[in-house]
Amino acid sequence: MGEFDFIDGVKRLFDSVQSAGFEGIGDDCAVFDMGDESLLFTTDMLQEDIHFIRKLASPFDLGYKALAVNLSDVAAMGGVPVASMLSLSLPKELGGEWAAEFMRGYHSLSEEFGVELIGGDTTSSKSVVTINVVAIGRVKSCNIKRRSGAKVGDVILVNGSLGESGDGLRSLLTGEADGVNVERHMRPTPQIREGEWLAGRPSVGAMMDISDGVASDIRHILTRSKVGAMIQLPQIPTTVDLTTALSAGEDYKLLFTSRPDEVESLMREYEERFSAPLYKIGSITNGDSLRWMDGEAESELDFMGYRHDC
Ligand code: ADP
Ligand code: MG
Repeated sequence: MGEFDFIDGVKRLFDSVQSAGFEGIGDDCAVFDMGDESLLFTTDMLQEDIHFIRKLASPFDLGYKALAVNLSDVAAMGGVPVASMLSLSLPKELGGEWAAEFMRGYHSLSEEFGVELIGGDTTSSKSVVTINVVAIGRVKSCNIKRRSGAKVGDVILVNGSLGESGDGLRSLLTGEADGVNVERHMRPTPQIREGEWLAGRPSVGAMMDISDGVASDIRHILTRSKVGAMIQLPQIPTTVDLTTALSAGEDYKLLFTSRPDEVESLMREYEERFSAPLYKIGSITNGDSLRWMDGEAESELDFMGYRHDC
């Protein structure tokens, strides 16, 4: 069974349990509306030999990344992270310097964004490292951006180059630990200030972070917004090949939509604010199909993002 079919089944199973007011499964974070402000909750796990290979990753980088991927989900809904919880399952031989260095990496990103560590759990493991993080964020309720917010005619944008993380992973796996993009893979920067800024713009419709690659992630926006899309392949910002750019994932940039009449001012003001451009990569269409375009013509190519089996 695929990951997404499993999650759909879990969601249906819990339809029978009374809701306490959470907007739950289906977006980058769960939302608890408290009036003017909402709380955001998200969790992501890193598992040795699935998400990382221990001998190829420094413990500092792993600590940094475990938190970064969670903060990215808070940013994806326009929130500011305020706290995290960390659960670690470690083989006995890693309890000393490895664990201390892991915590230094986790702490460095926590400090950078003012994210308090408020709890967690620590257990021993027979062989592999498992890391689970919960991140909690705050957001003005009227600013929350959901995957369901895209409208027909909207422009689709990303806020950075794609595929460099995937290229960095390839370098690591082929033994080039100093490849130019290795750092992009190991130290993704959560787009917190950028997400908060974009969330303050009424012209932005849907938003999410890019964890599995645009080829997979855009489908979440289409499903939740009940729309289709055309993606312009020549407009994908990347320094690597298109397949890696669209399918490798782990870029942790933001994927979002904007009303067409306000997209130029959005792009100009974003560039003024962040000294970095936004990139238009396509448009939202009627129907439910995802079409890969090369200018006016439909491309022969098809792309799939990264999928986890479970
Ligand atoms: P992301 O890539 O943004 O972390 P995922 O694709 O992992 O999001 O998850 C999609 C949605 O499914 C999220 O709302 C997440 O909280 C939920 N989800 C994933 N796994 C489970 C699970 N085992 N039980 C309940 N909800 C889950
Ligand atoms: Mg996400």
